[in-house]
Amino acid sequence: MYSTNLTGHFDAAHFLSGYDGKCKNIHGHRFDVSVSLSGKLIMSGEKSGMVIDFSDAKAVLNTLCDRFDHTLIYEKGTLSEALFAALNADGFALSEVEFRPTAEHFAGYFYRGLGKILPKHIRVLAVTVYESPENSATYSED
Ligand SMILES: [Zn+2]
Repeated sequence: MYSTNLTGHFDAAHFLSGYDGKCKNIHGHRFDVSVSLSGKLIMSGEKSGMVIDFSDAKAVLNTLCDRFDHTLIYEKGTLSEALFAALNADGFALSEVEFRPTAEHFAGYFYRGLGKILPKHIRVLAVTVYESPENSATYSED
């Protein structure tokens, strides 16, 4: 089996509501999203010998990363009405998500998102999201 591996990234702020520690405060990361894809090799044409063209896969990954780039990511229901209104009034870019914005949940989010967008013959093996070079979480199935 061949696999193709690529990494995208986005810079964003987040916080963990209800967390008893530093991560309860709004803070930022460069989130690196490392993806492993598998599939049969393309056997003819300009893409012969590839699982998927890196540039095609990167375009899909970038689409998902761009949603969050340079935004404040928050879990639905965790910003007070007053803060939400103030941030909006000042024009800050906000990204609401349905999950607690941990590296683990981001890994699952990207795994499922890639699976929906990539061609059907490409399988997402795993997604690892890094909050820093030392801290990451991986999602895979099977
Ligand atoms: Zn964080």
